[in-house]
Amino acid sequence: MLLKITILPGDGIGPEVTEQAVLVLQSVAEVFGHQLRLQHKNIGGAALAAVNDPLPPDTLQACLSSSAALLGAVGSPAYDHYPNHLRPEAGLLRLRRELGAYANLRPAICFPALEDCSPLRADLIRGTDIMFVRELLGGLYFGEPRSIEGPPGSRVATNTMTYGEQAIERIARVAFDLATKRKQRVLSVDKANVLECSRLWREVVTRCAKDYPSVHLSHMYVDSAAMSLVQRPKDFDVVLTENMFGDILSDQAGGVVGSLGLLASASIGGPVGVYEPVHGSAPDIAGKGIANPLGAILSVALLLRHSFQLEGEAACIENAVAEVLNTGARTVDLLRNNQKATTTSEMGCRVVDLVNESASTAKQNSA
Ligand code: NAD
Repeated sequence: MLLKITILPGDGIGPEVTEQAVLVLQSVAEVFGHQLRLQHKNIGGAALAAVNDPLPPDTLQACLSSSAALLGAVGSPAYDHYPNHLRPEAGLLRLRRELGAYANLRPAICFPALEDCSPLRADLIRGTDIMFVRELLGGLYFGEPRSIEGPPGSRVATNTMTYGEQAIERIARVAFDLATKRKQRVLSVDKANVLECSRLWREVVTRCAKDYPSVHLSHMYVDSAAMSLVQRPKDFDVVLTENMFGDILSDQAGGVVGSLGLLASASIGGPVGVYEPVHGSAPDIAGKGIANPLGAILSVALLLRHSFQLEGEAACIENAVAEVLNTGARTVDLLRNNQKATTTSEMGCRVVDLVNESASTAKQNSA
């Protein structure tokens, strides 16, 4: 298969983790006999520095002419004082909107080898396997009007949360469809006791559920969900949320399973999917070669699964990551008890080695 993919390394640790993810992608393509056509483009702070636009037209065009985009991270303190449309994050929000990527899938899985990396007791997190389905193009992050107005000392800031029935229904259907391939359970998270948006959300999700009689739907307020997530993480399966609640809860889940650096995401629904680790550009560790590349590498697995339906290739990467962790490799974010830290590139190399090994084992078995 020809795999046309745009690579968007971005800022901070983005280029470091993306480099390792691309090496893994290349080895999987070689092992399974796929042809790769990769284009590298700027986004975020890197694009602002180059052409003063966080999403330059040629970057968007490259993404639109690919089947998928693999992104590192955007964001840099250097742009904190810039107006909203000239901040790195504006490029990413525009990219998601231009590509119609309304469904953000964020798996949070507790790898058996990392049970001791969670701040929670091992018996609480063992077996945790959550799929967050977060609405990505609505809610407070996109709502208009938005502004900071008024004279210094009396300024007023406004953001707007808006949700329409169609936007709720299409994301709900993504969650229900995924649930039919998992444990047939959807938990919808909202704040229906306070917000009108959440009341409509709950009503539409409940209506949609009638088309999925095998799936059990439950509802929870977001504050209660945040508490339950640390008390009983393994009770969660498919979690359906609006944009901001999903952003927050999925990062919290990263802390629960051991590190934000492990989490991958897929933003799908439009013609081109965007795949990226959940973490940001981590300016505090950028350039040190110590970032955990596994979130980026696992994003490649999601890319192969959701944009190319290459389940075997995706599973090969996921198994290699689990196996590398079983061997004791740990980047600094996963270190416990004076273990020796694995660097970003060593971690990537080990995953590549295991991908290659699994291919030669498969060939020997079939010979
Ligand atoms: P962050 O995710 O960048 O970092 C939070 C903490 O986790 C930091 O201590 C960091 O060192 C650590 N961390 C993150 N990823 C790691 C990895 N792969 N390996 C090891 N440790 C890792 O979040 P932040 O500090 O709130 O934000 C930094 C910048 O990133 C900001 O400009 C923010 O806007 C941006 N951001 C971008 C995205 C994105 O590109 N999708 C997402 C979140 C934040």
